[in-house]
Amino acid sequence: MAKIEEYIPLVGQAVIDDLKLLGERLKGRVVQHINSTPVGGGVAEILNRMVPLLKELGVDTKWDVIKGGEQFFEVTKKFHNALHGRTEEVTQRDFEIFMETSQQNIENIDTYGDIVFIHDPQPIALIKKKAVNKWLWRCHVDVSEPNEKVWGFLMDFITKYDSAVFSAPAFSRKLPIRQFLIPPSIDPLSDKNRELPEETINSVLRKYDIEKDKPILIQISRFDRLKDPLGVIDAYLQVKKYIDCQLVLAGGTAEDDPEGFKVLSEVQEKAKNDRDIHILLLPQNDIEVNALQRAADIIVQKSLKEGFGLTVAEALWKAKPVVASNVGGIPLQIKHKYSGLLCYSVEGASFAIKQLLSSPEYAKKLGANGREHIKNNFLITRHLRDYMLLFLSLYYPEDIVRLC
Ligand code: UDP
Repeated sequence: MAKIEEYIPLVGQAVIDDLKLLGERLKGRVVQHINSTPVGGGVAEILNRMVPLLKELGVDTKWDVIKGGEQFFEVTKKFHNALHGRTEEVTQRDFEIFMETSQQNIENIDTYGDIVFIHDPQPIALIKKKAVNKWLWRCHVDVSEPNEKVWGFLMDFITKYDSAVFSAPAFSRKLPIRQFLIPPSIDPLSDKNRELPEETINSVLRKYDIEKDKPILIQISRFDRLKDPLGVIDAYLQVKKYIDCQLVLAGGTAEDDPEGFKVLSEVQEKAKNDRDIHILLLPQNDIEVNALQRAADIIVQKSLKEGFGLTVAEALWKAKPVVASNVGGIPLQIKHKYSGLLCYSVEGASFAIKQLLSSPEYAKKLGANGREHIKNNFLITRHLRDYMLLFLSLYYPEDIVRLC
């Protein structure tokens, strides 16, 4: 794994010196992250890199994961969809199941951190253990228009935290506690994002029987309805009437997402008669994801709802032309017609894909602009700085922080 010094050529010496200074200020404090899955999805993706780098900077950082059974994760998936505004039948029994598992975690998880950093709704009830330590609730979901029943239930916990963190102003809600706005990031030196030799890219394509004989469109995401894989196939089919191309839909499943296999089988069914659609159930393998993204001519992210959308940042970092929905954190990353193309529908996505396939120079320019935007705003070094400033601010009263 890359050491902090290795980021100097990318972001400059001053940025790294700054991080080291902040790390020194936090010596002696233990920061304990808690989420609901060690692999799969954006939160685990970030923590996998954030935790070792914070440690290297001298911040004593730990990462614990709550436990839950199938029923619990079915309920939290419902919560997730409902918070995104999707219609869900959330029953009293669902809330009871949530509380039963939460109670077991409250009994079994030691919340020893000076700062306990809770990610998303699944572990939110651990706040009941709050003692003199500081507690942060990090919401990765766009909760601008949530199902009020679920949001109301969560509010009883949220208000007990010291502070909440959201990815963007548009994601947040009015709260009686302090709020911080910190967008996520990608690690340019991780296996997911670092440069790869051409031979590695080709060997991954061979492994999955993908030829380079026609343009490759790719969406890499968990098989989740909100990522709209069926809509991606529809967009591809519309493009294919005019331009011969192939589609790769690749994704793994996350331990806290019980819906994945059902969505995957619907996708397989829809794609079964088209030899140019490749449905890949990826093992957790960052190099393969990296290679597939780099092999793509166009990267698609046709989500119906989205958190920040790390896959978009990963694609732009690789200077790829991206067609993505104008939802969640995607418009923070893509300025329409400057660093990618935003779309609102299957028709919009297919129109944008056709445009890019027919104008390679334009596509290249969008990709190059996208990479620059990610470099300036969404690399892990910026994220580390924001988090360390956040940790320090917890020990100062609000008015002082405002003055800083
Ligand atoms: N990802 C992966 N393998 C897969 C599917 C997704 O490694 O099969 C990664 C993807 O590269 C990204 C993260 O999981 O880093 C997904 O984060 P995002 O914010 O796009 O979506 P989420 O899954 O959190 O809704």
